[in-house]
Amino acid sequence: MNSLGVNSLDLAAQPHRRFNPMTREWVLVSPHRTQRPWQGQVEDVAPETQLAFDPNCYLCPGNSRAVVAKNPDYASVFVFDNDFAAMKPDTPEGEFRQQDLLLAHSESGRCRVICFSPRHDLTLARMSIADLRNVVDAWAKEYADLGSQPNIRSVQIFENRGAMMGCSNPHPHGQIWANETIPNELAKELAALTDHYKAHGSTLLSDYLKLELEKQERVVCSNDDFVVVVPFWAIWPFETLVLSRRPVSALDELTDAEHTSLADILRQITIRYDNLFKTSFPYTMGFHQRPTDGQPHPEFPMHVHFYPPLLRSATVRKFMVGYEMLGMPQRDITAETAAKWLRDLPPSHYLDQ
Ligand SMILES: [Zn+2]
Ligand SMILES: [Zn+2]
Repeated sequence: MNSLGVNSLDLAAQPHRRFNPMTREWVLVSPHRTQRPWQGQVEDVAPETQLAFDPNCYLCPGNSRAVVAKNPDYASVFVFDNDFAAMKPDTPEGEFRQQDLLLAHSESGRCRVICFSPRHDLTLARMSIADLRNVVDAWAKEYADLGSQPNIRSVQIFENRGAMMGCSNPHPHGQIWANETIPNELAKELAALTDHYKAHGSTLLSDYLKLELEKQERVVCSNDDFVVVVPFWAIWPFETLVLSRRPVSALDELTDAEHTSLADILRQITIRYDNLFKTSFPYTMGFHQRPTDGQPHPEFPMHVHFYPPLLRSATVRKFMVGYEMLGMPQRDITAETAAKWLRDLPPSHYLDQ
């Protein structure tokens, strides 16, 4: 028993639930189901593409794009408005309401596409730090430009990587959605982090990073400015969180050196992901940044979430079904074990070894 009279809990052996203070939701952890040793299963999976240029790809330089235009012969990063955008900037304001049960509101916004490289066959993990830095620069510019528009309150920068995540085109690219309201996930975190800031006078993520750096148990990799951890409350088997050592609320507050540093840390973690099952690792990754409502938001440090679906090999993925749809998310391997596996991998890409 501890000083509070509560029995201690063996996180590595006993079923338990863990609290996510960022969303104030719980995840069920069942470590007793993974007593078997780590197999490190590697399968022979053909790469999605080996073509540096694909004449049929609508994102490659010079190719035709859907109904609208032809891509320029871009040599670095290329950003454009999505031809099939989920939101439009000129949607008139409107509301639908019936007895407070049926409620709808118009939503205007912009959806942009960012090609990370003219090379069809690259991924973030296979790009140079210099080229990745160009992507960081473009993200920062888009965040600032879109966020400065009067009807935009939130800018989401993200990447769906791999067919398993529903990404139909292997050309390295991501998306930027900017809209007039704050979406659910950001709103949950904003509420929790604001409460923490009011109660403690410090940011939740700075306090959390301090704790992780003391323990080192869930740290995967780091550099001078950023640290990657498998968060204590991770849901996906190899979920990670990229935290900045100096709290900044968005990309527009990073220094020049930190742009390069961010490129480096994204390269480090994506290489480790690829090395885990010797495959081009699928994931959804994205930035959470301060709402662009003109307020400074010191309570909300910028961070990056990686949500990869793979569980045991290049083809065996985790599904969020059954209890997870009806109850709460559940995982078997602990965050500590996942962090150790990722941490112990070689830091250079397996295709370069
Ligand atoms: Zn392409
Ligand atoms: Zn977040």
